[in-house]
Amino acid sequence: MNRRYSSSPRRASTHKSKSFHGGGGNRRNNGRFQRKPNTIPSSRFINKGVPVIEPEAEDIEHTFADFGFHPNLAKNISAKGYETPTPIQDKTIKPLLDGKDVIGLASTGTGKTAAFVLPIIHSQLQQKSRNAALIITPTRELAHQVSEEFRSFAKGTGLFSVVCVGGENIHRQKKELQRGVNVVIGTPGRLKDLLKQGELKLADTKTLVLDEADQMLDMGFLPDMRFIMQALPKTKQVVCFSATMTPSVATLLSGIQDNAVTISTQPEITSEHIDQNVIPANTTEEKMEAIHKLLAEPAYEKVLIFGETKRGVQRLADNLTKQGHKAQAIHGNKSQSQRQRALNAFKASTSSVLVATDVAARGLDIPNVHLVINFDLPQTIDTYTHRIGRTGRAGQGGTARTFVQR
Ligand code: AMP
Repeated sequence: MNRRYSSSPRRASTHKSKSFHGGGGNRRNNGRFQRKPNTIPSSRFINKGVPVIEPEAEDIEHTFADFGFHPNLAKNISAKGYETPTPIQDKTIKPLLDGKDVIGLASTGTGKTAAFVLPIIHSQLQQKSRNAALIITPTRELAHQVSEEFRSFAKGTGLFSVVCVGGENIHRQKKELQRGVNVVIGTPGRLKDLLKQGELKLADTKTLVLDEADQMLDMGFLPDMRFIMQALPKTKQVVCFSATMTPSVATLLSGIQDNAVTISTQPEITSEHIDQNVIPANTTEEKMEAIHKLLAEPAYEKVLIFGETKRGVQRLADNLTKQGHKAQAIHGNKSQSQRQRALNAFKASTSSVLVATDVAARGLDIPNVHLVINFDLPQTIDTYTHRIGRTGRAGQGGTARTFVQR
């Protein structure tokens, strides 16, 4: 299910304007899902009457044909329906094809996956080699998403990849590695285990990709990442994608990158184009009633709700299911396969509401979310931006509603 980057976004203006105004403070209440007081002013959750921002065609310098991709790859790109490179693809693909180290400041939703996957496939189609690229992601779900993207672009090329993540059968991963793959995609813990067991060999790896590096560091993966990096050859291409350039990302990259080209598409990922408003609600019951009303609106076919705690998220999904909504929960207490099933159901529209914690949802490619609801207030503006970034992806308009105390 691909959308054209250049296609017209779903217009936020078609969404009925709700009369939820005001904002009020962030007083603590006894609502079940409300945790701590929050210092973010309610005004930060409001952005009304937004025009939908069309991606500016003149900002895109290249067509996919300009990159001179191998014919098989070019065929797969058009079969996937990609017509125009996204800004991050436009700016990073050339330096990546030239073998340069790259720092790409871009979040999920900008097309960053194809930006690093396409040059890897192109170079492997020139000359295949084993474990040529290692792609490290913070979450298992993101590893699978990258793998899906890789497979669709590598279809019929004889190139292979393996996903090495925790919570899944390690023997199968070992078997794939022994059989020989071109690209290894995984999360730090499992990759480290496979390295320690001598099953993963990185002596000939040419490209290292750190996907969502800031999140990987936030999740405490630095020691594992360092362990993996010391197994890589000194000379290699190091590609880092991160939503933000934090001091810890800069420290991580210093010494492992050489004359890196930094490319930022940050203006593309602001939330200016998202229709945002608050909904005053003091109790869980009030919130449930408001959600019920929102879900009845035809414009909101796919809705993502953020809650703070694993238990709260599960309870909310259960309540919504009882009310007759097709809701699923995704949080840290779910097994890997349960999370994947919930995500797949949401992607395939078998379910229309996904209730998630921040950690479980970060980095996931959830297409066409029409509405994001902040059941619990986000702890930081950064988290808020990440959450509502799930609507209005790749240039589309979207809607976000945040519950605040009256
Ligand atoms: P990503 O940021 O890599 O997670 O990509 C976000 C979404 O945009 C995914 O569903 C991609 O399939 C889609 N996408 C990426 N690049 C393009 C493109 N050039 N044209 C159309 N869709 C794209």
